Amino acid sequence: MIQDIPSSLTCFPEASPAKGDYVFQSKGDNIALTPWSRAAKVTQPLVKVGETTLFLGAAPDPIWSDTQYLRRLPSADLRFAGFCANHLSRWLLNHRWCGKCGALLTFKGASLHCTACNHEIFPVISPAVIVGILHQGRLLITRYADRPYRGPALVAGYCEVGESAEATCIREAFEETGLHLTRLRYFASQPWGLSGSLLLGYFAECTDAEVRLNDGELSEALWLAPDEVPPPPDPCGALSLTATMIQAFARGETLL
Ligand SMILES: [Zn+2]
Repeated sequence: MIQDIPSSLTCFPEASPAKGDYVFQSKGDNIALTPWSRAAKVTQPLVKVGETTLFLGAAPDPIWSDTQYLRRLPSADLRFAGFCANHLSRWLLNHRWCGKCGALLTFKGASLHCTACNHEIFPVISPAVIVGILHQGRLLITRYADRPYRGPALVAGYCEVGESAEATCIREAFEETGLHLTRLRYFASQPWGLSGSLLLGYFAECTDAEVRLNDGELSEALWLAPDEVPPPPDPCGALSLTATMIQAFARGETLL
């Protein structure tokens, strides 16, 4: 998975830019990752992986791409660092002013701090679930109706306040497909910096196989046998928890 890298990763390291580092920029839904040069302006080290640091800043002549570009980077270290830089940079750019008193926030250590009222804000991580729904030896493979990612997907959604991860699985499965889950079992988790999430993966069985695409989030849902599931969408293997779960199903390793 994306987080399984040979090096260790540090958020908000103490570092000065040097040859081999990168400048990370985001603008709307797009990002640019540019090798650091003296012409670049950097404001904040975001992530260090091995000996390479990604800085928030502005590089001359950035090449903008959508965030899916990061999952096609050939280096596993840089791929995961790019994901985490995307998560942290969006948090920084979306939290400039104190929510309690309105003063400008300053970055200190690993958090944002308000010098006027002492309010402290840590990076926001959103818990979400992914569910591999099984019925009579088949897995429900879906596609999103309107997201940049067009590959095979599983039912997924964010946890709401007051909800356990298991309750989110049951609610999302019913909202998106009309299916009632039974025998829910935890599989694995994954930090996913493209959406600022911590994904919790489950497999579950359901009472019947009649799918109703209820809320418009999905465009397609198919029950597939182990030898019919698609290969991972990323050229370097199963980066996502979704692809890892689909491969586990193909190998008969769903633990259910
Ligand atoms: Zn304040």
